[in-house]
Amino acid sequence: MREIDLHIHSNHSDGTFSPTYIVESAAKMGLRAIALTDHDNAGGCEEALKAGEKLGIEVVPGIEISTKYGVAVHILGYYIDFNSDFFLMISDWIVDDRNERNKKMCALMQADGIDISYEKMLERFGDVIGRPHFARILMEQGYAESINDAFDKYVEKGRKYYVPRTILPIERAMRTIVRSGGIAVLAHPFQYRKTDAELRELIEYIIPHGLKGIECRYSGYNAEQIAYLENLADEYGLVKTGGSDYHGDNKPNQLGSGFGELEVPYEWLEKLKALKE
Ligand code: AMP
Ligand code: FE
Ligand code: FE
Ligand code: ZN
Repeated sequence: MREIDLHIHSNHSDGTFSPTYIVESAAKMGLRAIALTDHDNAGGCEEALKAGEKLGIEVVPGIEISTKYGVAVHILGYYIDFNSDFFLMISDWIVDDRNERNKKMCALMQADGIDISYEKMLERFGDVIGRPHFARILMEQGYAESINDAFDKYVEKGRKYYVPRTILPIERAMRTIVRSGGIAVLAHPFQYRKTDAELRELIEYIIPHGLKGIECRYSGYNAEQIAYLENLADEYGLVKTGGSDYHGDNKPNQLGSGFGELEVPYEWLEKLKALKE
């Protein structure tokens, strides 16, 4: 029986569904708890919590912050105080910076005759726009066969319409979560293509900055990979988390089950929650 999913994106970042719809789907599936972890903002958390209360499913407010430690590294923050002035100051700043970058990407596409307008994108996708939204528009207009193809051809780093945005250094991202009362967890550790020694170096570097957990179960991770990560977490005295990284129709994996293999025990959430109290 599938119990929880602690890594989910809504239309407050690059997922395709609203927080309410996601909570309803999770309730229908019989999940006991979910966490909403949109990129760089927590604008959907209030709505998700309300839906959770109504439907009797536990909702954890969260965020996934993009940072850099040599390569792009994502840090999940659970139970952040998402209405605090401090948290809003940082997350608003990240979104403003993202908007500046997005307007530049839009201008590059317009200059090539692509039918795109930033105002219309905001209307359609909400206030946190990312490269997946640009990729979707490029696909819809026939410039690419899929979102992935659009990334490869146009919006991946080094491609024609790629414009960088400011990425918080890892220390700042950790501080944003910790000072907002949240619990910081290293997201999808295999995405960084690090060796065992490099991954340990990263973990050891961020523990003093407040790292409390490792995302051990994740869409597509096999039993061997999961065992390796669970051992790492135990070795460093960190809690374990897991989630699908569900993005609705923007990625092929499924809520709660990833690619069919994902199972995250409720007991892991209890341990995570205990760190908050
Ligand atoms: P941004 O934060 O706007 O620069 O966009 C980065 C996001 O794009 C990542 O968090 C991923 O969710 C998504 N992404 C990156 N590469 C790809 C890809 N090849 N296909 C689909 N989505 C991608
Ligand atoms: Fe994403
Ligand atoms: Fe991520
Ligand atoms: Zn994610």
